[in-house]
Amino acid sequence: MIQKPKGTIDLFGEKGKIFNNIEMYTHDFMKLNNFEYVKVPTFESSNLYKRGVGESTDIVNKETYDFVDKGGREMTLRPEFTAGIVRSYIENKEYSYNRLKKYYYFGSCFRYERPQNGRFREFTQFGVEVIGAKNARLDADIIYMAYKYLEGIGIKNLKVKINTLGDNESRNKYKEILKEYISKDYDNLCDLCKDRFDRNPLRILDCKYDGSRDYIKNAPKTIDYLNEDSINYFNSVKDSLNELGIDYEVDTTLVRGLDYYTHTVFEIISSDERLGLASTICGGGRYDNLVRMLDGPDTAAIGFAIGIERIITVLESDEEFKIENDIDIYVMNLTNDAFAYKLNNDLRSNGYVSEICYENKNMKQQWKIVDELNPSFVVIIGEDEIASGYVTIKDNKTKEQINVKNEDIIEYFNTYY
Ligand code: ATP
Ligand code: MG
Repeated sequence: MIQKPKGTIDLFGEKGKIFNNIEMYTHDFMKLNNFEYVKVPTFESSNLYKRGVGESTDIVNKETYDFVDKGGREMTLRPEFTAGIVRSYIENKEYSYNRLKKYYYFGSCFRYERPQNGRFREFTQFGVEVIGAKNARLDADIIYMAYKYLEGIGIKNLKVKINTLGDNESRNKYKEILKEYISKDYDNLCDLCKDRFDRNPLRILDCKYDGSRDYIKNAPKTIDYLNEDSINYFNSVKDSLNELGIDYEVDTTLVRGLDYYTHTVFEIISSDERLGLASTICGGGRYDNLVRMLDGPDTAAIGFAIGIERIITVLESDEEFKIENDIDIYVMNLTNDAFAYKLNNDLRSNGYVSEICYENKNMKQQWKIVDELNPSFVVIIGEDEIASGYVTIKDNKTKEQINVKNEDIIEYFNTYY
């Protein structure tokens, strides 16, 4: 028997329903916030991620799915969306608009990770990218929006963490100071962090293992090495969040994994223990360098990404977001007569969720299907009904039955349902 690849998941039944409801909720939510939907390729040139996400990051270093296509081109399945969207922004000259651009996306990402709770090799991200403005109010609005999105789904016990990396000058100065500090503890680092030391020392601070050690907790903090501009910017972000009434915690160890972040970085964490070490539901930040790094004009930007499977894990035993996809009418089709099939399609054309049996089952078997589907009404169509010109409609809740003339069925539902 062929099984699904390691690290992938099948979502069906209740979870499939939740996934679908979350996706629909996402489109409605983003419409309200006036964001444009953007669809970018599932694979891009490997170079995009090397330059965009950064060759020194964990993602590009170890986690990407790379392949050479039949034309000999090096390709990578997208590990995230930001680089692809910025590539598209530049390639399609989206910077020629007079206004900033607000994009959102919803789709699969691929990372070769060790599978565990909340960590898969194919997973779904919903995220936004706002390209074209640097304004502390915007940073606060983006954090606010991510929080409201998660709250609207019904996720409880959310915590917002923010930090700042400062501008390039502050960030580079800090990087040197941090390396100097960590070098004294190099031998005690986990293998992964040893590897990060030269490539991406900031990431050591949020290592799942070393990050909890006192030595790392007491490391120098970005906040203490900010220049004045960077301090002012961070203070404005905090003031704006206060004005919006969002509770947050400044977490000076929060650095985020990607090379392109500047100034504000943030995460939204769930304390739900089912997520284990994968407690970050949303990660984001400002990336004022990326558009230029990918050969576009110097353009400021900010975004976030939310892991949909982590949301589903948290919601699984919660009743909150399971909007029922109710069935209105079941057409109990006992004769295979064209009339039953036509009625089923007419009901759908009139806006009813209608279902019919295609499997040549008798009445007893079909009542079992009715039990599974739990429709509001059942329309029974057998030999007698076809001959007499009347069908029986049963209210599946009250169990009351009524005979209705074949040509009046739709009108009956329009009037009484
Ligand atoms: P983590 O620290 O958990 O590895 P990350 O920093 O790699 O997260 P991002 O690249 O910021 O994560 O991705 C944004 C969000 O996508 C994460 O907060 C998480 O919800 C989700 N995510 C990331 N990697 C995975 C994965 N392998 N499986 C499921 N969801 C994921
Ligand atoms: Mg990761």
